[in-house]
Amino acid sequence: MSRADPLNGTDALRKSILSARVAGSPPDLVERARRILVAYVDAAIGQGRSARQIAGEMSSGVPALTAARVALDATEPTNDLDCKSGCAFCCILAGEDGAVITSAEARVLHTALYPIAGDPDGRDWHPRACPALDPETRTCRTYAARPVICRSYVSTDAGACEAAVGGSTEEGPGVLGPHVDYLLVQALSRAALKGSAKVSTFSLAQIAAGALAGNDLEETLATARHRPRTLDDERKRIAKHR
Ligand code: SF4
Ligand code: SF4
Repeated sequence: MSRADPLNGTDALRKSILSARVAGSPPDLVERARRILVAYVDAAIGQGRSARQIAGEMSSGVPALTAARVALDATEPTNDLDCKSGCAFCCILAGEDGAVITSAEARVLHTALYPIAGDPDGRDWHPRACPALDPETRTCRTYAARPVICRSYVSTDAGACEAAVGGSTEEGPGVLGPHVDYLLVQALSRAALKGSAKVSTFSLAQIAAGALAGNDLEETLATARHRPRTLDDERKRIAKHR
């Protein structure tokens, strides 16, 4: 029997989330992410939003983003972190995907950076640095609008972060738990809306580069859109290091 279109009503949307499958991640983490997503959807239904409106929010990554921000705000800061302003080895982005962000984050990031298009960017300091980085002060020029990955990445050892740029896997840097939930909520949203609405992710580095090159939002989104497997690769990679 084929499933009901999740855009047809809130009952169908809820059922689609409850039956969505995400392979390759630990089941306990998937079920935690499902509870987070269902709680978001139930709150949205309670506030009178339609299935189409809620699906639009899931498509943009709003539930993943909202849950991660609440959890990160509630995370107690620890004294043993080495993180401080101007320490920016974590803003040198590894791999080809340029860090995974949602559509909602991509739009906010582009809006924050577009007004300074043409200014020197992080790549004047290091060729793989995030373009949003100020190359002189090595501080983030979109700090208030920085994505979840930037809020989640912390380290007890800046030296290990510097070594990681060269490929070392020394202990010290890592991501906080809310980032794991964020990736899985996004993956569950995609599975629940499959065939009805797209749930894309984007390259943080390419969104920042497009905004600083003066490219408009739609052009930048089109260039920075990830292949679907990038989100799956990232959630599996991060879950291994939880
Ligand atoms: S994660 Fe590492 S590089 Fe980034 S601020 Fe913290 S110590 Fe510095
Ligand atoms: S958005 Fe800001 S914090 Fe995040 S990688 Fe870029 S410069 Fe660093």
